Amino acid sequence: MLTEIIDKFYLEQQKSREQNHFYITDVGKCPRAVFFKFKNVPREKMDARILRIFERGESMHMNIINTLIRLGIVVAAEIKIPAQEIISGRADVILSLNNELYVLDIKSMNSMIFRNLTEPKPENLQQVQLYLHYFKIKKGILLYIDKDQQNIKEFVFNYDSKLVKSLLDDFQKLKTKIDSDTIPPKLLDWSENWQCRYCQFKDICSEVGEGDLHWNGFKNKLES
Ligand code: SF4
Repeated sequence: MLTEIIDKFYLEQQKSREQNHFYITDVGKCPRAVFFKFKNVPREKMDARILRIFERGESMHMNIINTLIRLGIVVAAEIKIPAQEIISGRADVILSLNNELYVLDIKSMNSMIFRNLTEPKPENLQQVQLYLHYFKIKKGILLYIDKDQQNIKEFVFNYDSKLVKSLLDDFQKLKTKIDSDTIPPKLLDWSENWQCRYCQFKDICSEVGEGDLHWNGFKNKLES
Protein backbone atom coordinates (compact mmCIF):
# COMPACT_ATOMS: atom_id res chain seq x y z
CA MET A 1 0.00 0.00 0.00
CA LEU A 2 2.54 2.59 1.16
CA THR A 3 5.30 1.23 -1.08
CA GLU A 4 3.11 1.81 -4.15
CA ILE A 5 2.38 5.38 -3.05
CA ILE A 6 6.09 6.12 -2.47
CA ASP A 7 7.17 4.48 -5.75
CA LYS A 8 4.53 6.45 -7.63
CA PHE A 9 5.82 9.67 -6.08
CA TYR A 10 9.35 8.93 -7.36
CA LEU A 11 8.21 7.80 -10.78
CA GLU A 12 6.17 10.97 -11.26
CA GLN A 13 9.30 13.09 -10.70
CA GLN A 14 10.74 11.82 -14.00
CA LYS A 15 9.93 14.11 -16.84
CA SER A 16 11.28 13.85 -20.39
CA ARG A 17 12.69 17.30 -20.97
CA GLU A 18 13.89 18.49 -24.32
CA GLN A 19 17.56 19.39 -24.10
CA ASN A 20 18.91 22.28 -26.14
CA HIS A 21 22.42 22.64 -24.81
CA PHE A 22 25.02 20.31 -23.34
CA TYR A 23 25.40 19.74 -19.62
CA ILE A 24 28.88 19.24 -18.23
CA THR A 25 27.67 15.85 -17.01
CA ASP A 26 27.26 14.83 -20.68
CA VAL A 27 31.03 14.71 -21.01
CA GLY A 28 32.27 11.15 -21.54
CA LYS A 29 28.73 9.96 -22.27
CA CYS A 30 27.74 8.03 -25.36
CA PRO A 31 27.23 10.64 -28.15
CA ARG A 32 24.25 8.72 -29.48
CA ALA A 33 22.50 8.79 -26.08
CA VAL A 34 23.14 12.55 -25.82
CA PHE A 35 21.77 12.99 -29.36
CA PHE A 36 18.59 11.13 -28.34
CA LYS A 37 18.19 13.43 -25.32
CA PHE A 38 18.41 16.48 -27.58
CA LYS A 39 15.74 15.01 -29.87
CA ASN A 40 13.53 14.19 -26.87
CA VAL A 41 13.32 10.54 -27.87
CA PRO A 42 11.05 8.66 -25.43
CA ARG A 43 13.23 6.94 -22.85
CA GLU A 44 12.69 3.99 -20.57
CA LYS A 45 11.69 5.14 -17.09
CA MET A 46 14.15 4.50 -14.28
CA ASP A 47 12.69 2.48 -11.48
CA ALA A 48 11.83 4.13 -8.18
CA ARG A 49 14.55 2.23 -6.31
CA ILE A 50 17.29 3.73 -8.53
CA LEU A 51 15.82 7.20 -8.04
CA ARG A 52 15.96 6.71 -4.27
CA ILE A 53 19.61 5.64 -4.55
CA PHE A 54 20.39 8.87 -6.47
CA GLU A 55 18.59 10.89 -3.84
CA ARG A 56 20.59 9.25 -1.07
CA GLY A 57 23.80 10.11 -2.94
CA GLU A 58 22.69 13.74 -3.20
CA SER A 59 22.01 14.00 0.52
CA MET A 60 25.50 12.63 1.27
CA HIS A 61 26.96 15.29 -1.01
CA MET A 62 25.06 17.96 0.93
CA ASN A 63 26.41 16.59 4.22
CA ILE A 64 29.98 16.91 2.96
CA ILE A 65 29.32 20.44 1.66
CA ASN A 66 27.84 21.41 5.05
CA THR A 67 30.93 20.07 6.79
CA LEU A 68 33.19 22.13 4.49
CA ILE A 69 31.08 25.22 5.16
CA ARG A 70 31.47 24.65 8.90
CA LEU A 71 35.23 24.34 8.38
CA GLY A 72 35.13 27.80 6.77
CA ILE A 73 36.91 26.78 3.56
CA VAL A 74 34.03 27.10 1.07
CA VAL A 75 34.25 30.06 -1.31
CA ALA A 76 31.08 29.13 -3.22
CA ALA A 77 28.76 26.12 -3.42
CA GLU A 78 26.49 24.86 -6.19
CA ILE A 79 27.93 27.45 -8.53
CA LYS A 80 26.95 27.70 -12.19
CA ILE A 81 29.65 27.97 -14.85
CA PRO A 82 29.72 31.33 -16.66
CA ALA A 83 27.12 31.54 -19.42
CA GLN A 84 28.41 30.66 -22.88
CA GLU A 85 26.96 29.06 -25.97
CA ILE A 86 27.61 25.40 -25.71
CA ILE A 87 27.58 23.95 -22.17
CA SER A 88 25.91 24.59 -18.86
CA GLY A 89 26.77 23.06 -15.52
CA ARG A 90 27.05 23.60 -11.81
CA ALA A 91 30.10 22.72 -9.74
CA ASP A 92 29.60 21.32 -6.24
CA VAL A 93 32.08 23.58 -4.46
CA ILE A 94 34.90 26.04 -4.98
CA LEU A 95 37.09 25.99 -1.91
CA SER A 96 40.21 27.67 -0.65
CA LEU A 97 43.00 25.65 0.99
CA ASN A 98 46.33 27.26 1.92
CA ASN A 99 45.42 30.33 -0.16
CA GLU A 100 44.85 28.25 -3.27
CA LEU A 101 41.51 27.75 -5.04
CA TYR A 102 40.19 24.29 -5.91
CA VAL A 103 37.09 23.04 -7.69
CA LEU A 104 35.69 20.12 -5.73
CA ASP A 105 33.28 17.56 -7.10
CA ILE A 106 31.73 14.90 -4.86
CA LYS A 107 30.69 11.47 -6.08
CA SER A 108 29.20 8.54 -4.21
CA MET A 109 29.34 4.83 -5.00
CA ASN A 110 28.84 1.42 -3.43
CA SER A 111 31.53 -0.22 -1.27
CA MET A 112 32.73 -2.66 -3.91
CA ILE A 113 33.40 0.00 -6.55
CA PHE A 114 34.87 2.29 -3.89
CA ARG A 115 37.31 -0.38 -2.66
CA ASN A 116 38.66 -0.94 -6.17
CA LEU A 117 38.96 2.73 -7.04
CA THR A 118 42.66 3.63 -7.43
CA GLU A 119 42.26 6.65 -9.70
CA PRO A 120 39.44 9.04 -10.60
CA LYS A 121 36.89 7.74 -13.08
CA PRO A 122 37.69 9.28 -16.49
CA GLU A 123 34.22 10.84 -16.94
CA ASN A 124 34.44 12.46 -13.47
CA LEU A 125 37.91 13.80 -14.19
CA GLN A 126 36.74 15.21 -17.54
CA GLN A 127 33.82 16.92 -15.84
CA VAL A 128 36.03 18.65 -13.28
CA GLN A 129 38.54 19.62 -15.98
CA LEU A 130 35.73 21.52 -17.71
CA TYR A 131 34.83 23.27 -14.46
CA LEU A 132 38.49 24.25 -14.02
CA HIS A 133 38.45 25.62 -17.55
CA TYR A 134 35.32 27.73 -17.13
CA PHE A 135 36.21 28.98 -13.65
CA LYS A 136 39.87 29.55 -14.63
CA ILE A 137 41.03 27.58 -11.59
CA LYS A 138 44.19 25.48 -11.77
CA LYS A 139 43.47 22.65 -9.32
CA GLY A 140 40.66 20.17 -8.87
CA ILE A 141 39.67 17.57 -6.29
CA LEU A 142 37.41 14.58 -6.73
CA LEU A 143 36.07 13.28 -3.45
CA TYR A 144 34.46 9.85 -3.51
CA ILE A 145 32.15 8.59 -0.75
CA ASP A 146 31.52 4.95 0.01
CA LYS A 147 27.70 4.98 0.40
CA ASP A 148 27.67 1.84 2.55
CA GLN A 149 30.63 2.41 4.90
CA GLN A 150 31.00 6.21 4.72
CA ASN A 151 34.72 6.02 3.88
CA ILE A 152 36.04 8.83 1.70
CA LYS A 153 38.88 9.03 -0.84
CA GLU A 154 40.25 12.05 -2.68
CA PHE A 155 42.22 12.67 -5.87
CA VAL A 156 43.88 16.02 -6.50
CA PHE A 157 44.95 17.06 -10.00
CA ASN A 158 45.95 20.02 -12.15
CA TYR A 159 44.16 21.68 -15.04
CA ASP A 160 44.95 19.92 -18.32
CA SER A 161 44.44 22.30 -21.24
CA LYS A 162 45.02 19.62 -23.92
CA LEU A 163 42.37 17.35 -22.45
CA VAL A 164 39.90 20.25 -22.21
CA LYS A 165 40.51 21.22 -25.82
CA SER A 166 39.77 17.68 -27.01
CA LEU A 167 36.60 17.53 -24.87
CA LEU A 168 35.35 20.83 -26.28
CA ASP A 169 36.17 19.65 -29.82
CA ASP A 170 34.13 16.50 -29.19
CA PHE A 171 31.18 18.57 -27.98
CA GLN A 172 31.45 20.76 -31.07
CA LYS A 173 31.49 17.69 -33.38
CA LEU A 174 28.45 16.27 -31.62
CA LYS A 175 26.66 19.61 -31.93
CA THR A 176 27.25 19.53 -35.69
CA LYS A 177 25.63 16.07 -35.81
CA ILE A 178 22.69 17.23 -33.72
CA ASP A 179 22.17 20.31 -35.88
CA SER A 180 22.37 18.26 -39.08
CA ASP A 181 20.07 15.52 -37.65
CA THR A 182 22.72 12.84 -38.03
CA ILE A 183 22.44 10.07 -35.42
CA PRO A 184 25.98 9.24 -34.19
CA PRO A 185 27.21 5.63 -34.35
CA LYS A 186 26.78 3.17 -31.50
CA LEU A 187 29.58 2.79 -28.98
CA LEU A 188 32.25 0.46 -30.36
CA ASP A 189 31.69 -2.04 -27.55
CA TRP A 190 27.92 -1.68 -27.80
CA SER A 191 25.90 -3.75 -25.38
CA GLU A 192 29.03 -4.65 -23.33
CA ASN A 193 29.77 -1.05 -22.36
CA TRP A 194 28.42 -0.17 -18.89
CA GLN A 195 26.63 2.83 -20.41
CA CYS A 196 24.62 0.51 -22.67
CA ARG A 197 23.62 -1.66 -19.74
CA TYR A 198 22.02 1.31 -17.98
CA CYS A 199 20.95 3.22 -21.10
CA GLN A 200 17.37 4.44 -21.23
CA PHE A 201 17.51 4.41 -25.05
CA LYS A 202 18.84 0.89 -25.59
CA ASP A 203 15.75 -0.45 -27.36
CA ILE A 204 15.60 2.45 -29.80
CA CYS A 205 19.37 2.30 -30.25
CA SER A 206 19.30 -1.34 -31.30
CA GLU A 207 16.67 -0.48 -33.91
CA VAL A 208 18.80 2.28 -35.40
CA GLY A 209 21.67 -0.05 -36.28
CA GLU A 210 25.40 0.53 -36.32
CA GLY A 211 26.65 3.66 -38.04
CA ASP A 212 25.57 7.24 -38.71
CA LEU A 213 21.95 7.58 -39.83
CA HIS A 214 19.70 10.48 -40.69
CA TRP A 215 17.33 11.24 -37.81
CA ASN A 216 14.27 12.24 -39.84
CA GLY A 217 14.26 9.00 -41.82
CA PHE A 218 14.42 6.97 -38.64
CA LYS A 219 11.84 9.14 -36.87
CA ASN A 220 9.36 8.61 -39.71
CA LYS A 221 9.99 4.86 -39.48
CA LEU A 222 9.34 4.96 -35.72
CA GLU A 223 6.14 6.97 -36.12
CA SER A 224 4.77 4.66 -38.78
S1 SF4 B 1 22.61 1.61 -25.98
FE1 SF4 B 1 24.78 2.15 -25.80
S2 SF4 B 1 25.36 2.86 -27.85
FE2 SF4 B 1 23.13 2.89 -27.75
S3 SF4 B 1 22.58 4.96 -27.14
FE3 SF4 B 1 22.69 3.73 -25.31
S4 SF4 B 1 24.77 3.97 -24.53
FE4 SF4 B 1 24.76 4.64 -26.66
